[in-house]
Amino acid sequence: MTGIDSLRNVLELERRKGYTDKAVIGGLDKYLHKQAGQIRQSLVLSLNEVKTKELIPQLLSGFDELNLAKSDYSSYGVDERKRWMTNVLGWLDKIEKATKTNRQESGVSRQKTVVSSQKSEAEPRQRRREGLDSPITVIKGITPNVANKFARLNVRELGDLLYFFPRRYVDYSQIKPISELIEGEEQTIIGKIWEARVATLGNRKGTEAIIGDETGNVRVVWFNQPYLAKRFRTNDRVVISGTVGLFKGHKVFESPEWELLEDKELIHTGRLVPVYPLTQGLYPRQVRKWTKEAVDGYVWQLDDFLPSDIKARCQLLDLPAAIAQIHYPDDLTMAERARGRLSFDELFLLQLGVLARKRDWQEGQPANAFDIDQEVISSFLRCLPFILTRAQERVLQEILTDLKQAKAMSRLLQGEVGSGKTVIATLALLIAAANGYQGALMAPTEILAEQHYTNICGYLSQAGSQEPGEGTIRRYTAFLSRPLTIALLVGSLSSAEKESLHGKIKQGEVDIVVGTHALIQKEVEFNKLGLAVIDEQHRFGVLQRSALRQKGFNPHVLVMTATPIPRTMALTLYGDLDISVIDELPPGRQVVKTKCLEPQDREKAYSFLHRQVSNGRQAFIICPLVEESEILEAKAATTEYERLSREVFPNLKLGLLHGQMPGNEKEEVMRRFRGGELDILVSTSVVEVGIDVPRASVMMVEGAERFGLSQLHQFRGRVGRDKEQGYCLLIPEKLSPEARERLRLMEKVHDGFALAEKDLELRGPGEFFGTHQSGLPDLKLAKLSDLHSLELARREAITLFQSDPSLNKAEHQPLRQQLSRAWSKGAEWS
Ligand code: ADP
Ligand code: MG
Repeated sequence: MTGIDSLRNVLELERRKGYTDKAVIGGLDKYLHKQAGQIRQSLVLSLNEVKTKELIPQLLSGFDELNLAKSDYSSYGVDERKRWMTNVLGWLDKIEKATKTNRQESGVSRQKTVVSSQKSEAEPRQRRREGLDSPITVIKGITPNVANKFARLNVRELGDLLYFFPRRYVDYSQIKPISELIEGEEQTIIGKIWEARVATLGNRKGTEAIIGDETGNVRVVWFNQPYLAKRFRTNDRVVISGTVGLFKGHKVFESPEWELLEDKELIHTGRLVPVYPLTQGLYPRQVRKWTKEAVDGYVWQLDDFLPSDIKARCQLLDLPAAIAQIHYPDDLTMAERARGRLSFDELFLLQLGVLARKRDWQEGQPANAFDIDQEVISSFLRCLPFILTRAQERVLQEILTDLKQAKAMSRLLQGEVGSGKTVIATLALLIAAANGYQGALMAPTEILAEQHYTNICGYLSQAGSQEPGEGTIRRYTAFLSRPLTIALLVGSLSSAEKESLHGKIKQGEVDIVVGTHALIQKEVEFNKLGLAVIDEQHRFGVLQRSALRQKGFNPHVLVMTATPIPRTMALTLYGDLDISVIDELPPGRQVVKTKCLEPQDREKAYSFLHRQVSNGRQAFIICPLVEESEILEAKAATTEYERLSREVFPNLKLGLLHGQMPGNEKEEVMRRFRGGELDILVSTSVVEVGIDVPRASVMMVEGAERFGLSQLHQFRGRVGRDKEQGYCLLIPEKLSPEARERLRLMEKVHDGFALAEKDLELRGPGEFFGTHQSGLPDLKLAKLSDLHSLELARREAITLFQSDPSLNKAEHQPLRQQLSRAWSKGAEWS
């Protein structure tokens, strides 16, 4: 690269960095003072090519007037720096024009574009034209083989690479004179290589170098990398970043990051260095080189899809700047601002998507407006052995109001375990049937489906009389003007039973179907589905919700969950749903007595379990959570189950439940436990979902500190469902003061919502709720716990949605495209 070219690169970099004098280490002035001579030389060389010789003296004197050798950039304010920069770059443009015009005239370049656009000349050198949807292999060094490795990280196109974000940064921005290096800290030095050679380190070959600056020298070694010795030549200027150690009393860098000091921007050293998530066969240095090339070459192509008024209001960085800064931030503030812009994008697109979805459902096609027959409702309520709580009453009215509309209901019903959601759902299903429509209730497991079926039949039999029916189909009279038919559809039915049931559902001979995923299979066709109820939402994605919706002519949808979801989060993840909350338990419900024990109190807990079992109760023992490995978790649970069966409870009947067991085995174990054949169920966290075991009274949780408060609350909701007192014993593995404080909350707080809020605050939403299973766009950066950003994004989305609901305005076209891109990944439903 000639002196002039590198001058331009340095200046453009400085301009991109906002005139902060950070483009070159040591400052721009130092660089210019040193390089001015060389730059002039290369200028003279290239001027030789200019045909219009009269121009030469003019250009040369123009250069000399710039007086680069005595520049005083560092002393300028920003405005002065900008003026200075425009001046120098303008002069560079002139040179370039003169030399290029010449070449063109002499026929070297026939391309008109070179001179036609003033703009392209002012663009940084590295700008490249391949589209962002080009494969990453257009970058030098990314071979098809490397591309395969990137594909494992979901990086295939240039655009993906720009959105392949570092996980964190190592701060190597602390540049120190060698004499001031401090042992044990991450620091950077800039110096000259005095000598570099292959050396035997330990018993392996490596590289050893001595590097010096004005203040001293330091030894640097790289283990197992003898080839580095050849890369370093004496007197090369090099930047070393790493932690300083001590060897035989002398300071030494051991296998630090290194980088030769050229006129390129540093990417491995001397700055905030990005740390990318890698996979086997991808190395940090390569990846940084490539992301840098992607940023320099292609970031300019990114179309900033955010309307500028939103950017201004929310003080967000432009998209290209945000992408550039998230990879190679100038400092932590800029990294944070980049993150702020990009996570805003995620939340904003998410919100726009859910709002659009809701509108499509509600306005895309008319739904069925039901008549609410008060007589049906009161005759049902009269027959219940209890009266509805105020909260149930309120929620019922909210649902009935929805059902009256010719606009499909999309409602999330939240309520703690035992708050009485099923009664409310039953009433809604009954109203659908009274209007001549079918209703469906979908549960995540067979046991839960059976449980619902039994409960609903229980309610119906109190109100009406049961006609003798065949197993999983029952009929109730004296209820509606005609008999009401309800059926159970689960995977374990025989194919003949299933087929016959499918036929009946299709013919409209069944009013209410309770089932599992079996309900959304292709073979299931409804005659006239008017209401779909989905229980335990978080086990189903948005996709299943939409699959069930498609079974009907835009049916009303009611989603039920026992997981308390803090409101802002619900608005984000279920922004397409209206929300109802049953925030009151039926009277007389006792709270589960909860105690956090010390690990050494385990024996006491075991004898407590013994006593409970001998009084005819049952117990759960939950094994510790193993992050990210269901296999290891299953193994640990199996070992624990064997140990407990052999050494602790040899004369009791124990069962084992974990996520690696086939579905039918899991169901079988649960069935036996519920039926009382087992005394103690040893389980991983899979037991969490709403199963009812009336006689279970003790929930013992091992490794309790690894679970979220919400999850612990779900666990303890499994016991004490009867009149007997329920107990929850939390046994932590290690009890740090924070963990103790967190678990203590379980002893005092029995409100699921309060615990959920606390959880979100203490542990963040990643732990709380994965978005990957919800069918929503991925959130790579956005933190759902950041209520401020969430509300900001939601507010902006609503405002925009109100002014241009279909994003038809010309200025919203880029946004519209981005939106469909973001939502196309997880879903096939638009
Ligand atoms: P959820 O589905 O919210 O966990 P359920 O609907 O299964 O709760 O209700 C739990 C238990 O409480 C059931 O036995 C139900 O009959 C009973 N129940 C529901 N509502 C009331 C009420 N208002 N008063 C007394 N008991 C109720
Ligand atoms: Mg339930």
